[in-house]
Amino acid sequence: MNEQAPEPFEPVDEDWGTALAVVAHPDDMEYGGAAAVARWTGQGKKVVYVMVTSGEAGIDSMGPEECGPLREAEQIASAAVVGVDTVEFLGHPDGVLEYGLPLRRDIARAVRRHRPDIVITSNFRETYGGTMLNQADHVAVGRATLDAVRDAGNRWVFRELAEEGYEPWNGVRQVWAAASPEARHAVDTTDTFDLGVASLREHKAYLAGLGGPMADPREFLEGFGRGAGSRLGVRFAVPFEVFPLR
Ligand SMILES: [Zn+2]
Repeated sequence: MNEQAPEPFEPVDEDWGTALAVVAHPDDMEYGGAAAVARWTGQGKKVVYVMVTSGEAGIDSMGPEECGPLREAEQIASAAVVGVDTVEFLGHPDGVLEYGLPLRRDIARAVRRHRPDIVITSNFRETYGGTMLNQADHVAVGRATLDAVRDAGNRWVFRELAEEGYEPWNGVRQVWAAASPEARHAVDTTDTFDLGVASLREHKAYLAGLGGPMADPREFLEGFGRGAGSRLGVRFAVPFEVFPLR
């Protein structure tokens, strides 16, 4: 039997001005996406981060009350490394996120507030490919983000948002799910790879509490970036599953 080479990736559309990244946890952007963000902010684009939780359940040796504020601070420092100066935290509970109307409403509010062209989220498929299971919060946030982008454009869904002063926003052209096993697109991050590593390194307390293959930022990101890069014909890349909306 012949081993089939994976299909080449197409470059993502880079003709846009503002992106909103909506992810479950501090560190979700840094395990892959931050190098792409550094490239885009370097091109003069604006990128805003929205964290659905504060990652307060992410460090085994530290209680949530202490952990949440620490991880928020690490995320803000991490974002600054790749040119992101707006980081918002929606305050949903880490580890036990539920797909549902409150989550859709809060993400829709963020979409109306920031009026992005592109919305980025993390992989929400069941796995990262093969049997490498995804995490429940990522699945809930990704699904809710796809739906919230449409909710943001409909005046009659979550009517309280307009009453709060957030007018509908229909301008989102595509939603991108980073590191999806269904990805067909990618962006070249060869020139900003080191910024991505530096951004992940800002999660100091989190990395200190972590063992295994994800605890070394450079090693992990090199493996991740090289795999996608080989399918885009560059050294390093970040893969995205693209959902066009208009
Ligand atoms: Zn996560």
